[in-house]
Amino acid sequence: MDTGDDTAASRLRTLAEHYIEPVRTGPAGRGVSSPEGRAPLNLGIINHMAACRAEVLEHAERDAPDAEPAPTLPDGIYAWWRNNTRHLDAEKRQARETVIYRQALEHAIAMGDYKVIRRHPCPACGCWGLFWRATARRAACSNLDCLDADGMTSTWGLSRLAHEHITRQKNAAERATV
Ligand SMILES: [Zn+2]
Repeated sequence: MDTGDDTAASRLRTLAEHYIEPVRTGPAGRGVSSPEGRAPLNLGIINHMAACRAEVLEHAERDAPDAEPAPTLPDGIYAWWRNNTRHLDAEKRQARETVIYRQALEHAIAMGDYKVIRRHPCPACGCWGLFWRATARRAACSNLDCLDADGMTSTWGLSRLAHEHITRQKNAAERATV
C-alpha cells in the first residue's frame, strides 16, 4: 500500500524552512547561537528532524539494504523510502506508511499544530473529541464516560492514532475494490 500522501514531507519542509530559527517568533532564550553568529537555532526542532531521519534510515536499512544512498534534502526521505521498498509485502508497506503518518503527526505537533489530533476518532469510544495533552505528549478523549481500566481519561500515543488511521485507510481501499 502506497498512499502517496506527502503530508509528512511537506510538513518536514515547513519545519526545516520556518521552525529551525524560531527566535524571531518564539520565546527568547530557547535557542543557541551558531558559531557564525547567525540566528539562534531551535535545537528541539533540529533534534526532532534528526530523530525522524534516523528512524526512516534504520527501517530502510533493514528492509532494503541495497537501496541507493538516502537524499540529503530532509523532506526527500519519505519518497526515497517508498521508492526503495515497493517490493515489500503489504503488511510491511502498511507498517512503513504507519511510521510515515506518525511522523507527519509529530511534525505537526512540533510546529504547535495540535488540531491534527481532532481529525482522529477516539480508538476506544469512536467520538471526535480527542485533544492534545502537551505535557503528557498524548491525545486524550474528552468524553467523560471514556475511561481506561484505572478509571482515568483514555489517552493515546501518536503511534496508536497512526496505526488506527492507516488501518482504516486500508480497509476503505479494500472495500472500494470489492
Ligand atoms: Zn473516547
